[in-house]
Amino acid sequence: MIPAAFDYVAPTTVEDALAALAQYGDEAKIIAGGQSLLPVLRMRLNAPEWIIDLGRIESLRGVRDDGDAIVIGAMTPHVVVGSDPLVAEHASLVAKAVEHLADAQVRHRGTFGGALAHADPAGDLGAPALALGAEFVIAGSGGTRTVAADDFFVDLFETAIGEDEILTEVRIPKRTGWGATYEKFVRVAHQWPIVAVAATVRVEGQAGDRVFAEARIGLTNMGSTPLRARAVEDALVGQPVTDDAVRTAAALAADGTNPPSDLNGDADYRRHLATVLTRRAVLDAAGA
Ligand SMILES: Cc1cc2nc3c(=O)[nH]c(=O)nc-3n(C[C@H](O)[C@H](O)[C@H](O)COP(=O)(O)OP(=O)(O)OC[C@H]3O[C@@H](n4cnc5c(N)ncnc54)[C@H](O)[C@@H]3O)c2cc1C
Repeated sequence: MIPAAFDYVAPTTVEDALAALAQYGDEAKIIAGGQSLLPVLRMRLNAPEWIIDLGRIESLRGVRDDGDAIVIGAMTPHVVVGSDPLVAEHASLVAKAVEHLADAQVRHRGTFGGALAHADPAGDLGAPALALGAEFVIAGSGGTRTVAADDFFVDLFETAIGEDEILTEVRIPKRTGWGATYEKFVRVAHQWPIVAVAATVRVEGQAGDRVFAEARIGLTNMGSTPLRARAVEDALVGQPVTDDAVRTAAALAADGTNPPSDLNGDADYRRHLATVLTRRAVLDAAGA
C-alpha cells in the first residue's frame, strides 16, 4: 500500500530537528533508516502529516572513543557498527549481534539508534545494549539527559524517549578482553529471533583452571522488553568454566521472564529455548 501523503523536512542539525518536532508536535514523526517506520506507514498504521528525516545530520553518525566508553551515534547504520574496530575491541557483543540482524540491505539502511528507539521486543540490539550497561543520550528542548539501559526500555515498542525528544547517541562502557556471543534461534535465515541470548563474560585463570569472574547476559523476546538474566549471572560468578557449571546456571535463564506465545512457539517452548541458548552462548563466550 502507498503511505498517506505527508510533508517532509530534512534538518542538518539536532537543534533544527528538535525545533521541527516542537513546531509540528503530534503531527510529526522522525525517520532514521526507515526500515521499521516505512512498513508502518505503508500499512497505514500511522499517518503523520510531517516526516522529520535525521539522515542529513552528520553529527549523529559514527563511532568514537570516549575514554572508558565507546559512543555510537544514533544514525550510524548497522553495517558500519558491525565492522567498526572500536566496537569489535571494546563491545564485541554488539558486533556479534549485528552479524545476525536482518539481511545486508536492511543492515545498510537501518540505524543503531533507530532500532533501539523502535524497541521491538524481538529486536536484536536491545539485549546486548542492556547486558553491556549502555547509556542513552537523549536531546530535548530543555537540553540533554542520559538514561541508563535499565530505565530505557519501558514496554512493548516504548522507550524513555519523549515525543519531543531525539536519541542522539549510545554510550557503551568498554569491556575490553571480554568474550561475547549472540545466540539467535530462527526457523529461516534473516528472521527476527524467536528467542536470542546475548552473553558476555570475563574469565580468569589458566587453561584447565578457569573461572567466571564476571558475566552479563541479556534475553531477546522473553518479555515485552529486553531482559537481564540476573539469576544466571549471579550463579556463574566464581564457578569453573565447565559444561556442568554452565548448564546448572543456564537452567535459571527463564526466571522472571514473561515470554509471548505465537505461531513460532508458545511461552514454555521459549522458556526452554532460553536455557539451551544461554548455555551455548555462555560456553562459547568463555571460549569453552
Ligand atoms: C525485512 C526486515 C527484516 C528485519 N529484521 C530484523 C532483525 O532480524 N533483527 C532486528 O533487530 N531488526 C530487524 N529489522 C529492523 C531493523 O533493525 C531496523 O533498522 C530498525 O528496526 C529500525 O531502524 P531504522 O533506522 O530503520 O529506524 P526507522 O524505521 O526510521 O524508525 C523506527 C522508529 O524509531 C523512531 N526513531 C528512529 N530514530 C530515532 C531517534 N534518533 N530518536 C528518536 N526516535 C527515533 C522513529 O520515529 C520510528 O518510530 C528488520 C527490518 C526489515 C525491513
